[in-house]
Amino acid sequence: MHRVCPQCKSDNVIGDFLMISGSWTCLDCDYRGSFVLEMDDPDYAEFLREEEEHNRGV
Ligand SMILES: [Zn+2]
Repeated sequence: MHRVCPQCKSDNVIGDFLMISGSWTCLDCDYRGSFVLEMDDPDYAEFLREEEEHNRGV
């Protein structure tokens, strides 16, 4: 299971469950919130491939 930042699409997201908020924090862009994208491994691999193609301008 990957948790992906909705803002910068990084999976460098950590849970914040020791605090009452129960929110997520992205280490790459400082996104903070209760919503993150959740993907299984195959979905995430597909997601990365699409992102890469997008960035390449295909
Ligand atoms: Zn982020």
